[in-house]
Amino acid sequence: MDKDFFDQALLKAKEAFDVARKKTTDVVSIQRQRFEVTSLTAKMEKDYAELGEIFFEQIKDSEDMPENVRLLVEAIQEKIQRISELNLEIAQTKNKKVCPDCQGFSENNARFCSHCGAPFEEE
Ligand SMILES: [Zn+2]
Repeated sequence: MDKDFFDQALLKAKEAFDVARKKTTDVVSIQRQRFEVTSLTAKMEKDYAELGEIFFEQIKDSEDMPENVRLLVEAIQEKIQRISELNLEIAQTKNKKVCPDCQGFSENNARFCSHCGAPFEEE
């Protein structure tokens, strides 16, 4: 075997190895980047939800709001109302009280919410 042929073969093998190593590095890098994108997206959605709650509390009683905002405020209010009704039904079935502040369930004779500590109105 002549030396040039051997050197060429060695060079090709090294190039193939470098390409394979770069692909592996790229795959690992993309996985890490995708994980960060997923993580940041989840955190951003949480921030959006929190921003939405702040905004909702500020504008829910306003007369003057854009139509698309009004529709969302009404959709949220309907869901709050229905969740409250359902929790009350569940609580009655389980013979418990529902906290008007946090919607948590407490024993029927409790004077304070066992979740948030809010006092229950005397019946
Ligand atoms: Zn509570």
